[in-house]
Amino acid sequence: MKEKKHNSSKKQVQLKGIPAAPGIAIGKVHIFGAEYIKPVERDISDEDIPREVERFKEALKQTRKEILAIEGKISRELGIEYGRIFSAHLLILEDSVLVQKVIGTLKKKKKSIEAVFMEVLNKYISVLAESRDEYLRDRISDITDVKNRVLRNLTGVEEKSLADLDKESIVIAYDLSPSDTAMMHGGPVLGFATDIGGRTSHTAIMAKSLEIPAVVGLESVTDVVKNGDPVIVDGMHGVVIVNPTKRFLEKYRKEKERYERLGHKLVELKSLPSETLDGKKVGIAGNIELPEDVVGVISHGAEGIGLYRTEYFYMNRKDLPTEEEQFNAYKRVAMRIKPHFVVIRTLDLGGDKFLSQLDVPKEMNPFMGWRAVRFCLARPDIFKAQLRAILRASAYGNLKLMYPMISGIMEFRQANAVLEEAKEELRKEGVAFNENIPVGAMIEVPSAAITSDILAKEAAFFSIGTNDLIQYSLAVDRVNEKIAYLYEPTHPAVLNLIKMVIDNGHKEGIPVALCGEMAGDISLTMILLGLGLDEFSTSPIAVPEIKKVVRSVSYEEAKKIADKARTFTTGQEVQEYAKKRLRELVPDIASGLGE
Ligand code: PEP
Ligand code: MG
Repeated sequence: MKEKKHNSSKKQVQLKGIPAAPGIAIGKVHIFGAEYIKPVERDISDEDIPREVERFKEALKQTRKEILAIEGKISRELGIEYGRIFSAHLLILEDSVLVQKVIGTLKKKKKSIEAVFMEVLNKYISVLAESRDEYLRDRISDITDVKNRVLRNLTGVEEKSLADLDKESIVIAYDLSPSDTAMMHGGPVLGFATDIGGRTSHTAIMAKSLEIPAVVGLESVTDVVKNGDPVIVDGMHGVVIVNPTKRFLEKYRKEKERYERLGHKLVELKSLPSETLDGKKVGIAGNIELPEDVVGVISHGAEGIGLYRTEYFYMNRKDLPTEEEQFNAYKRVAMRIKPHFVVIRTLDLGGDKFLSQLDVPKEMNPFMGWRAVRFCLARPDIFKAQLRAILRASAYGNLKLMYPMISGIMEFRQANAVLEEAKEELRKEGVAFNENIPVGAMIEVPSAAITSDILAKEAAFFSIGTNDLIQYSLAVDRVNEKIAYLYEPTHPAVLNLIKMVIDNGHKEGIPVALCGEMAGDISLTMILLGLGLDEFSTSPIAVPEIKKVVRSVSYEEAKKIADKARTFTTGQEVQEYAKKRLRELVPDIASGLGE
């Protein structure tokens, strides 16, 4: 009774952040402050320097041991792809430039090693914080993780761990390191929310794999919560509600129940075919970024992988992946998804995806610059190693390949010429591969969409990359929050381009897929279906809902819906109409649209 009164007197606060892992968690706050270590700054004399260097080396040794242990644990429990996050930590720790810089600064400043180490690392971190590149900014938590480990080993401060948490809680923190997140595995953490962090941080990636609802980038959640406060974490919409009113609690309890029930119901759909009420078959595939993601594709009932983004292979490492390494990964994916297919997309570096080991100059307009297939054609050494790996893996499963950022037929032909060279080399070496591997083009540049009639004559399939197609056709930078309101998948220009690509593909008898985020938006499924789309490829989590919508409508009805949608003059009208029709035709799913 007393507690009830206490809670109801507090004001509800609703915060919006970045959805990091789906699901809804309701529980009590546990504030987790990774300890703030403020090392003592002592002046030292010249004679003390060797001792301080020795202490530093000892701390590095100890830290290395700890990172290796956590890497082993995570590789065993979640898979080696997640273990690699910590291999990247080892690379930071053992960076000789960094170690030399610390020792050099120590000799110059003659301060205690912990103070010097912290100063040097903080400089690195502040440079990254200034970066316009989201991926680079997201690496701050990796460096901070390593920094704190070394500082703990220098100062003797004990590590606080979420593994010690003894009751079910929602963890609220300024930031969580990948190490902190790894410790949640199998423990009582119901969900988490943080002030900082981005979509591509390792914390977010790991939360998804642990299936713990999470929201990051909330900016001020730690300012508004106290230990024990009731809180809701909505990992689907990136919303956190502190001290929810009774009405909100009720709403979210229902929503959570619905999500979980629907989850079960949708899982039951797994073995049912993805076809419309009047029997039109529609492909529903999953998008993956790491070979380990195949598990999620299979468990959510997708019938193949429509987009394997291979960039992650090249990230977080100093060297380039070898042909052999890539071959092993692609082969593993091909064999696991068999008899279904996997579409491997060749390296799509650039834009917001940046590879540290390649000395690519900074550009004013990276999204329109030296990226993706343009980069690959300029670096046939890198490109051919990947093509050879894909070809070799094609002997082990149902593999297709596609090129990103194709802007016209010339680029498609040039890429194919490198592919031909790779094939010729393999033939000479007597290495097996699929001579007829289907080669498709991603349609994500307006010029490719507009000339899709030409491309369709030479490509084996199309995959529309709406994430980029929308940004280029509407001139809206996809990562700029200020103009996010202009980023409209339902803009008539976008719908017209999609329709044009599908029709041109079909005229030449090739299938057309869509693998941008738009494919996972259930309110748009019926429109895309009605436009004639052959395959949706989306994050595995959205697969069951898309299947449910497909199975709830006839193709004839979907065509009418698409025709009607194309009569509206604004994206907003299309969006409203689409939601209205979904509510009418698939009410149990539509209630999750979050209005
Ligand atoms: C796209 O642009 O829609 C796409 C699927 O590719 P990415 O998001 O990797 O650019
Ligand atoms: Mg793209």
